[in-house]
Amino acid sequence: MIKDDYEAVEANIEKACRKAGRSRSEVTLIAVSKTKPVEMLREVYGLGQRDFGENKVQEMKDKIPQLPDDIRWHLIGHLQRNKVKYIAGTVAMIHSVDTWELAQTIQKEAAKHNRVIPVLLEVNVAGEDSKFGLTVADTPALVRKIAELPNVRVEGLMTVAPYVPDPEENRPVFRTLRQLSVDIAGENIDNVNMNVLSMGMTNDYEVAIEEGATLVRVGTGIFGARNYNVEN
Ligand SMILES: *Cc1c(COP(=O)(O)O)cnc(C)c1O
Repeated sequence: MIKDDYEAVEANIEKACRKAGRSRSEVTLIAVSKTKPVEMLREVYGLGQRDFGENKVQEMKDKIPQLPDDIRWHLIGHLQRNKVKYIAGTVAMIHSVDTWELAQTIQKEAAKHNRVIPVLLEVNVAGEDSKFGLTVADTPALVRKIAELPNVRVEGLMTVAPYVPDPEENRPVFRTLRQLSVDIAGENIDNVNMNVLSMGMTNDYEVAIEEGATLVRVGTGIFGARNYNVEN
């Protein structure tokens, strides 16, 4: 079952790439495994998947030692400063940087591990009250500040688009994020690149790919619905 769903997602990604005239290699699928047991992650790993996304530090920290160490772990959820230390040594990318204070904490913890942590700035493009993230207007200034931190490297932008019945409704959101990344890239800031656009979830990843996503974060489409009452 997981195999069929995983292969269907893969086929959809290929199709969206073809439609957009992009190479499949430009898009990386992140399997969002939050609330799912490690057996399911192992199964998807066995199908060749290497990028996994979790939204909670504790859960990521618990899963990492139980799974192969060539997995790239993406922290995609809101991150509290006091928890950065638990993942600073292992996380492949933090997608949810939205304050200078958080960036400074990541700097401090990354330095302790003598590494540079790749990060994305989370932008609340649609301006939803319920969501974390920077406004479009505030994003360039924070990128310029984080550029000064030697152990943090900004590699792009991330957004969580609204849940909408028709994924086409999110096309302007994705387009806005991409334009923002083009604008920031145009500033040629040292220690910053805008190669990564993390956008698109189960409901809308094909549209996101058409609009330039390089990372798509798919949970339900691979693992099935989440049951928070039982599993969390
Ligand atoms: C849960 C989550 C996803 C995956 O959502 P699905 O709709 O299950 O694909 C993607 N991004 C973030 C930030 C999430 O928290």
